[in-house]
Amino acid sequence: MIEKLDHRNSLLQELNRFAHDLLWTWEPRIEAAFRVLDPDGWESTRQNPVLLINQLGEDGVSQALERDDVRAAIEDARTAYREYYDRRPAFMNAQAPLVIAYFSLEFGLAECLPIYSGGLGVLAGDHLKATSDLGLPLVAVGLLYKQGFGRQEIDAGGRQVEVYSESQGTDLPVRRVEGVEVEAPIGDRKVRIAVWRAQVGRVPLFLLDTDLEANPPDLRAITDRLYVPEPDRRLRQEIVLGVGGVRALRALGMVAGVFHLNEGHSFLCAIERIRELRASRRMTLEEARLVARAGIVFTTHTPIAAGSDYFEPGLVWDLLHPYLAEVGITFDRFMDLGRQRPGDPRERLCTTYAALRLADQAVGVSRLHGAVSRRLWKDAWRGLPEVQIPIGSVTNGVHMPTWLAPEIRAMLRRYVGPDWWDLDGGDGRWEAVFEIPAEELWTTHLELKRRLLAMARTRSENSADFDVNALTLGFGRRFAPYKRANLVLQDRPRLSKLVKSTKHPVQFLFAGKAHPADQQGKDIAAGIVALAREQPRVAFLKDYDIELAGHLVRGADVWLNNPRRFLEASGTSGMKAGANGVLNVSILDGWWDEGYRPELGWAIPSGATLDRPGVDDQAEAENLYRLLEREVVPMFFERDEKGIPQRWVEMMRASIRHIATEFSARRMVIDYFNTAYAPGARRVEQLRLLPDWGG
Ligand SMILES: *Cc1c(COP(=O)(O)O)cnc(C)c1O
Repeated sequence: MIEKLDHRNSLLQELNRFAHDLLWTWEPRIEAAFRVLDPDGWESTRQNPVLLINQLGEDGVSQALERDDVRAAIEDARTAYREYYDRRPAFMNAQAPLVIAYFSLEFGLAECLPIYSGGLGVLAGDHLKATSDLGLPLVAVGLLYKQGFGRQEIDAGGRQVEVYSESQGTDLPVRRVEGVEVEAPIGDRKVRIAVWRAQVGRVPLFLLDTDLEANPPDLRAITDRLYVPEPDRRLRQEIVLGVGGVRALRALGMVAGVFHLNEGHSFLCAIERIRELRASRRMTLEEARLVARAGIVFTTHTPIAAGSDYFEPGLVWDLLHPYLAEVGITFDRFMDLGRQRPGDPRERLCTTYAALRLADQAVGVSRLHGAVSRRLWKDAWRGLPEVQIPIGSVTNGVHMPTWLAPEIRAMLRRYVGPDWWDLDGGDGRWEAVFEIPAEELWTTHLELKRRLLAMARTRSENSADFDVNALTLGFGRRFAPYKRANLVLQDRPRLSKLVKSTKHPVQFLFAGKAHPADQQGKDIAAGIVALAREQPRVAFLKDYDIELAGHLVRGADVWLNNPRRFLEASGTSGMKAGANGVLNVSILDGWWDEGYRPELGWAIPSGATLDRPGVDDQAEAENLYRLLEREVVPMFFERDEKGIPQRWVEMMRASIRHIATEFSARRMVIDYFNTAYAPGARRVEQLRLLPDWGG
């Protein structure tokens, strides 16, 4: 009896350990244990293992543990967990002598952790997962929002409304770090900050939280929700992230040498480094700036100046002047770090200029975006010709074990090898993708498509009439106007002809949220909802999130991406799709400008060039229809005697082969390691050897 109780307790402990390690988001055998435990609860908690266990309670879990299927699933999960941690990853204890600290205002890791809004967050989440796989010594810092970004509902008039819900820290897959609290300056007050820890495989993610009784209400509210529109609230969040984040790492005993700023939001991290160096090493401002800079890596994500944060001088004065005095930098000098024209007292502080001037390594997120960024931000280096502007690029990538369908993963395991996810793109074993029999790949794809259509029925705004045999185009992304979700709606008669064909039926699945403050984006969403309400082959799926994104990029036939050229810095959903064999039809922008090859997808012609970036929406819509009508639709319906589209499947293989390797987060993190982390760590090490470093 006692033995049995002990065994049950150890299973319970084990479940709790699995629940607090986000490894389950990319290890299906661990996820399966939660699903088997309580299939309905798993869905109703939005796949939140901690909330699931809390809701079941000790009795509920104990009862479930009596079941054989639950025990077997836990056994499988245990094997998966052990396999993951027993493996010695390539970069464990590798050449990086110092810890890398990765700062971001959002992280997209799991549906149930409401600390992301979209692409930037999902990219940061994928960065951590790939870092864990590789074993690089990296820790991450972000904020713990309890309200998140808001769920999307559609009202009777077809308009988007946001619904916010609040979660308790104790119901999330995070744990409070007991005994650690730090402070950050907000004007002449100080805000107290608690620290939570989320475990992303081997990588700890520290999340800062100001919702403490010790804080007055306005300071408690700083970490309420993501992407607050008011500059005052936003700057407070950036102080907590940048200044509070560095202090939290110090309080945790994490000695980071390299600091990676994912977007300019965390630029104050560099200022806090300067303050620390001045205080502990008695350096001059200039010395401290140079030493701090050696370890700072900055990734810019926006291709337009307006995409950056801007703060009025008066606001910066109110929130930061006592702190700046402590750092020993004058207010004017600080403001000038973030100005296009230093010395203009009316100009606001732009976080991108500030981060560029404070970092030693600055990169854009695709090759094309590197070029766009050199032009956009060249004034940070007055007098330097554009080609010499020191902004490079590391092209984004996505975490393949997270985004590939389990069935595609199984195929890669079989044909390429069990460690397919850990192979370089140049490894000859990848060529085995071309040996996957067409019938096997096609049958698997149809299964994924059926699963998508079943999911689409539950999220669809209209009761759409989906057909698994129709060519299915997926479009899932934020409804920012430049992304032109409505491009294909330009010529209604032509669109009708495509979707009404009985011989070659085509259907469109749209999903995406507009930013709560973006009226134009909301109008675009409303236009699509209105069309979907009258046209059964067009559907609007509500509440685009990680789960829906996963179904769309695995189960569509074509991934449609038609932004105005040069406005999509990288884009990552097309990488997720392409790696699953979902073929891209896309403008040559962002990653596709370097990823496109005629054997694995299509380029929508655009007349825009870097020197003449203006675009003609009408002409590009025309190009898109022509491409669909003349190439994409005919090839999709060209079948052999078994009903298999052989040429299409050949493109699917090429798409998987190239995109799963070249656009993986694994490749991205290794690129960061080689071009930024390792050189940054070396410079920091060298500076330590200087006599005046102290010890
Ligand atoms: C991948 C992803 C994005 C980013 O997609 P883009 O192609 O960059 O627009 C946004 N949201 C979610 C939920 C995602 O999974």
